Amino acid sequence: MKAKIQEATELLRSSKHTTVFSGAGVSVESGIPTFRGEAGLWEKYDPSLLQIQYFHQYPERSWKLIKELFYDVIERARPNPAHIAVARMEEMGIVKAVITQNIDNLHQEAGSKIVYEFHGTVKRLVCTKCEKYYDSGTIDLSRLPPTCLYCKQSPVSEQGSLLKPDFVFFGEPIPDEARASSFAEANLADTFLVIGTSGEVMPACHIPVLAKQHGAKIIEINPNPSSFSSAITDIFLQGQAGYVMSEIQKDL
Ligand code: NAD
Ligand code: ZN
Repeated sequence: MKAKIQEATELLRSSKHTTVFSGAGVSVESGIPTFRGEAGLWEKYDPSLLQIQYFHQYPERSWKLIKELFYDVIERARPNPAHIAVARMEEMGIVKAVITQNIDNLHQEAGSKIVYEFHGTVKRLVCTKCEKYYDSGTIDLSRLPPTCLYCKQSPVSEQGSLLKPDFVFFGEPIPDEARASSFAEANLADTFLVIGTSGEVMPACHIPVLAKQHGAKIIEINPNPSSFSSAITDIFLQGQAGYVMSEIQKDL
């Protein structure tokens, strides 16, 4: 392992443009469960509960689950050594961008500046009618579902309109800007640092593959092999993100 970490460190040191590509695994050590795997949320919950049609059909039920799965957990979570190492590597000029599939805002909390949120964020809510955005911290989630204050004031609706977390539900498209910027990274990067992702979520999983096709070297950190590991990964560092990233950053 030590030799492999050294190999990865050398590659990162000589890289002109490293892009980090992260998934739910980078936040496990912050106490946020993944979707897949042994302790994953899909062992307990039905993924169809996060379908956009279900949200519109049963907003109250859907919001109750969303609050329990995401807001209550993410509110308490803090960046772990992996998020912090990524942010330091950006300060050092090695990491040029982070593409994250996560919605937990922990890369930004750790200090990362260029973060493309491929699946949106829990930090914003959006009105399903007037499309006004709200910082989630300003909305009371003790009464569900939350509604738009602006629409409530307008004569059109007495009830107010439904607010939706600004993350991507199953059945929704990827936000244009995040999508374009993330795919552009696949052309720009000479090194892709893939942390904690099963590589099974489409279309995000295409990005490291495209980067590889454009000549990038792939370093991967995961305690378990992913669908990238034997297909595109050049250096596989089998371990927890917090430990491996701290070791890498120490040597840079
Ligand atoms: P996933 O749940 O499909 O896979 C998680 C991966 O993390 C697995 O390969 C697992 O082996 C690995 N892992 C577990 N512990 C780890 C650790 N300590 N260090 C490094 N890796 C570890 O996650 P995914 O591929 O990111 O896809 C699921 C989708 O669900 C994401 O796109 C995301 O939108 C969403 N999601 C987000 C969060 C979050 O924001 N933190 C949490 C759960 C799910
Ligand atoms: Zn509104």
